[in-house]
Amino acid sequence: MKCKHCESEIELQSAIDSAEFSWPLRQTVWCLCSRCGNGNHVRFERGIAQVVSLSGSPGYEYEVLSSTNEPTIEVRADQEYLHVWLQGKHHEVQARA
Ligand SMILES: [Zn+2]
Repeated sequence: MKCKHCESEIELQSAIDSAEFSWPLRQTVWCLCSRCGNGNHVRFERGIAQVVSLSGSPGYEYEVLSSTNEPTIEVRADQEYLHVWLQGKHHEVQARA
């Protein structure tokens, strides 16, 4: 998947590590591009990560801009965190207050 601003490749691990907060019900995190410093919405679902453009609040529509297949991705959402597993390692991203 690519940054929607500068089109540089976003590594999955760095996207998770740099995620500042999440919208668990949208399975989406906010992370800053390490190259241009602009933010992207990155959505996770089982086996795939996508840079998306969100629309339709309070609906859950989104447009996929680019994606990366990664079979080890697992996702679980609760009220306070979006939990993402990558290669068996658990990460949690706090929901936006
Ligand atoms: Zn960028």
